[in-house]
Amino acid sequence: MPASVSPVAALERLPVPKVDHIDLVTVKLPFVAPFGTSVYTWTDKEAMLMRLEADGLVAWSECVSDPDPYYSYETNGTARHIIRDFLLPLVEPGMEMGRLEAGFSRVRGHGMAKATIENGLLVLIALQKGLPLHALLGRPAARIMSGLSIGLRDTPDELLAVVERAVAKGYHRIKMKVKKGQDIDWVRAVRRRFPGIRLMVDANGDYTLADTDLLRRLDEFGLMMIEQPLSYSDIYEHSLLQKELKTAICLDESILGLADAATALALGACRVINVKQGRVGGLMESMRIAQYCAERGVPVWSGGMDETGVGRAVNIHLQTAAGFTLPGDTAETANYFERDIADPPVVLGPDGFIAIPAGPGLGVRVVAERVLERAVRWERLR
Ligand code: MG
Repeated sequence: MPASVSPVAALERLPVPKVDHIDLVTVKLPFVAPFGTSVYTWTDKEAMLMRLEADGLVAWSECVSDPDPYYSYETNGTARHIIRDFLLPLVEPGMEMGRLEAGFSRVRGHGMAKATIENGLLVLIALQKGLPLHALLGRPAARIMSGLSIGLRDTPDELLAVVERAVAKGYHRIKMKVKKGQDIDWVRAVRRRFPGIRLMVDANGDYTLADTDLLRRLDEFGLMMIEQPLSYSDIYEHSLLQKELKTAICLDESILGLADAATALALGACRVINVKQGRVGGLMESMRIAQYCAERGVPVWSGGMDETGVGRAVNIHLQTAAGFTLPGDTAETANYFERDIADPPVVLGPDGFIAIPAGPGLGVRVVAERVLERAVRWERLR
């Protein structure tokens, strides 16, 4: 690849492979512990997977939507509708991935639906080339940093126990969810017990500018960042809040693509961006955002959606791309599922790093029997 061609430009030129069968398979896996945010608490993961079969090779991708609209307006139901009725009809073998993406842009929003197809095709291309996905994304890499996102807990003691286990494990950063009434005292408790850890909070949009004084009190705890303190769709008010805080704001929900990231940086609405590949429409847009931010000295990290081993692997490969300089939401599988649908599970090395799967494609094996066992819906689209 000539030095003048960026990794994303190289991806844009890849031809869309011919696919024999495309299935949407919805699986339901119980979480080992409920995952609570300021908006909702999930007790199981209902994940919609895409299975692409071509010449005997099988590629998988995961739609990161939930069955409900409590993180994003997209749900598994809307994603199925958009994929089946509007996006898949645009997929033609031989067209360049960049042209496919441009065609998808006619569909307003629905990044998670778009990402499901785009990522699945990229995984299939990697498989056909015999390359691990991260090699297709253009960067050699051996490992990434780890980070645990801890949902809301019933008591501070319960939270401290989870943090303690995570710190002992060697996680590179700890994120705790906060909400109104479950914030300052809880952060103080964690900070007192663990003065040296890299700690951050995520409010999932629970506050308003009227809470500025309260949010300013978080400055004393030396947090890496405060994620999405204000509304899920806001950028402007975050720019007003950021001026009032020493702590960096990180935007998650309100960044749906490169244009939002550019707006946020231009307004000074945040100093960090959480790039969720599903939310922004796929791996290519994720890499564009990471590159744009890197050129402006703004770090990004890969956010998680409590994915199964399929989506988790996609996130791991993505974090080898340029710009992903902070630990993301990538944690051990055991924090989420007793038995995932993919092997091997994600585990931390003794130094807290996560090894990148080296095999072709995702580099993890989706276990057919477990998918069948957990499937609640299976639909052949093509
Ligand atoms: Mg978040």
